Amino acid sequence: MRLAARAGRITPSPTLSMTAMAKAMAAQGIDVVDFASGEPDFDTPEAVKAAAAAAMRAGFTKYTAPSGIEELKHAIAKKFETDQGLRYDTSQILVSCGAKHTLYNLAEALFEAGDEVLLLSPFWVSYQDQVLLNDAKPVIIQTREDDGYAITRSLLESCVTSRTKAIIVNSPCNPTGTTYDRAMLEAIAEVALRHDLVIISDEIYEKILYDGTQHISIASLGPEVASRTLVVNGVSKAYAMTGWRIGYAAGPKELITAMASIQSQSTSNPSSISQKAAVAALQSDGTFTQQMVAEFDCRRRLMVERLNAIPGIRCRMPSGAFYAFPNVTGVLGRRHGTGAITSPAELANFFLQEARVVVVPGEPFGSCSHIRLSYATSLEAVRRGLDRMEAALKSLR
Ligand code: PMP
Ligand code: GLU
Repeated sequence: MRLAARAGRITPSPTLSMTAMAKAMAAQGIDVVDFASGEPDFDTPEAVKAAAAAAMRAGFTKYTAPSGIEELKHAIAKKFETDQGLRYDTSQILVSCGAKHTLYNLAEALFEAGDEVLLLSPFWVSYQDQVLLNDAKPVIIQTREDDGYAITRSLLESCVTSRTKAIIVNSPCNPTGTTYDRAMLEAIAEVALRHDLVIISDEIYEKILYDGTQHISIASLGPEVASRTLVVNGVSKAYAMTGWRIGYAAGPKELITAMASIQSQSTSNPSSISQKAAVAALQSDGTFTQQMVAEFDCRRRLMVERLNAIPGIRCRMPSGAFYAFPNVTGVLGRRHGTGAITSPAELANFFLQEARVVVVPGEPFGSCSHIRLSYATSLEAVRRGLDRMEAALKSLR
């Protein structure tokens, strides 16, 4: 069979594959420590489940408007107004089957052959493949760990061409945990305004912040910036609802309408029951998320401290999301058995085989120097996993 060329341009999501592998090993009774899963280990709040159960009992189990129910769009509009002071009409909001689907609808609506899309590396794994699937070219802007992955106007300018169509911004960032301050966001906005770029702002980790860090949405920098920005968000991370598949976007009506048409011809509406659950999540008082973040904070500190205590590994303290992204270059080149470990992918495989610890290698995030560890797991698992990684590394020459 001759498949479409686009199918050959991409690989399955490596974060999801590593997570699936960890879960499959655990199901076989293997004592594995899972640092791959990019999802909260907390259960979905009871009030959210109750709203879903009530929706089912009330027979709210049919198709809804393909772009999402008005009640949820109102709850989303209210969230933007309360949290960011951003005002959107419900015609500027689209509800999709997870933020990944939101981003995919966007990529289909916006990108085509000849377009260049700026990605700030390290980046979340799916951005690049979604750009490629839509015949456009990802242009990687390499940020530096030593600068805290900072973005400057000159760095951005050096990558813009007449073909540049959009830039994808992700703060807090998966995988680095970096959050952008106002000055960095202003630099991005200035470049976008000057070169007429669309800004895609993935804010899915906006509620998962540490040390008093405040989230700033780039769309809140002013009406001119908002008019060219698509804000992407969802309930997966803040409310431990990854399986419910509800993401959303707010932005220019023309773009939202095009994305909604694509959705109406592909998936139709996101699950009616999940939409009712998402209303309950967005209307909740925030206590659940605060408690979850307090717990993540303890794990974050422990994981980063333990990583930094290992010779050859250094790890920055992330200010958001739930990932540590240690630099492992000091370990690469060491020998195991007959060969040397020369890449993060080989190191991840070594940790899997020798320590039964699952991590995601840096390569699909755009880095040949790092691995990603999720601390959305218990403190006990953090201790056990780091003990095993440390012991395994001691066996290297
Ligand atoms: N953006 C980023 C940066 C993510 O880490 C994720 C995690 N899956 C998503 C988007 C998509 O989230 P979801 O589809 O579960 O809403
Ligand atoms: N975003 C999570 C991660 O990066 C979930 C997996 C995925 O959607 O790729 O691990």
